[in-house]
Amino acid sequence: MTYSANIQRYQNMSYPRIGQSGLRLSELSLGLWHNFGGVDAFENGRQIVLKAFDKGITHFDLANNYGPPAGSAEETFGRIMAKDLAPYRNELVISTKAGHDMWPGPYGDGGNRKYMLASLDDSLQRMGLEYVDIFYSHRFDPETPLEETLYALDTAVRQGKAMYVGISKYNPEQTEKAVEILSRWNTPFIIHQERYSMLDRHMEEGLTDTLDKHGLGCIVFSPLAQGLLTDKYLKGIPENSRAAKSTGYLQKDQVTPELVEQLRQLNNLAMQRGQSLAQMAIAWNLRLPTVTSVLVGASRVEQLENNLLALDNKAFTNEELLQIEQILKG
Ligand code: NDP
Repeated sequence: MTYSANIQRYQNMSYPRIGQSGLRLSELSLGLWHNFGGVDAFENGRQIVLKAFDKGITHFDLANNYGPPAGSAEETFGRIMAKDLAPYRNELVISTKAGHDMWPGPYGDGGNRKYMLASLDDSLQRMGLEYVDIFYSHRFDPETPLEETLYALDTAVRQGKAMYVGISKYNPEQTEKAVEILSRWNTPFIIHQERYSMLDRHMEEGLTDTLDKHGLGCIVFSPLAQGLLTDKYLKGIPENSRAAKSTGYLQKDQVTPELVEQLRQLNNLAMQRGQSLAQMAIAWNLRLPTVTSVLVGASRVEQLENNLLALDNKAFTNEELLQIEQILKG
């Protein structure tokens, strides 16, 4: 059936600006790291992406290596673009990245110019796009001069293959240097992508200050700690969960009894707030003014629908915030 987007899709979503740039992102973004690869059911992935757009999510986050196999999530997204979303291209912010291991040999990994630009060409081809909205350096590469990696990002913009550029998992010092270098060339560098959740708060130790100082936006990934911050692991490891799957990045031994006890306490607090734990975890990430958008994943449409309800209750009392701190201290 021909897809036609929900005409009310922009009514219940906020679109904050990315830092001091003019570009806005939906407060929630959808990531295609897991569940959209060649090993996954295409139709399930398609339904998740279309539901996201119908609910006001305008930003879809990819990378060259998402799958498995690497590259196949971009192929899946390309199929959804061709089949359904091509008429809406100007309403979408599509991101991709290069930096992690992608193809064999000495030129398929890192931050060297040859890899970064060849990879972007491949990504565009797989997605059937003329340009991406944001092209990221997926990681800092200590073996490549930072100027070289960033110059590749700048070139992508000058070639018309990327509108804006970003960096991911760069620490505060590396970010400072990136700002200094990219500002020399007036490269539209607007965003940093970092892991952040109640279970991983390293971003609060310097990075948010650096981003605020330079007016950069921030998109945070794995806000549910890959599914741990939901009610799904409270009674063991369900079949089909990311921790149970052989292709998932979350390992069974990360689900420790101590963690489950913390999750149970957080879940009780979420219930008192009239939310699921997943919704509370997302809302909690959004409490930081630095955060432009929270980048969620989903293996089913219902999960995404559940997570979107986080936006109905984003406010925390001081007491609730303190309770969360106490639970996290253990
Ligand atoms: P999340 O922490 O949101 O985890 C998503 C997973 O949690 C789902 O796939 C599902 O797993 C489970 N889940 C989601 N909602 C619910 C729910 N309501 N109830 C129960 N379980 C739920 O994010 P991801 O780790 O997937 O990361 C999100 C995105 O961030 C990625 O797709 C990618 O775009 C980006 N990212 C970027 C990185 C970088 O280096 N820049 C690194 C990692 C991610 P399941 O059902 O399979 O158990």
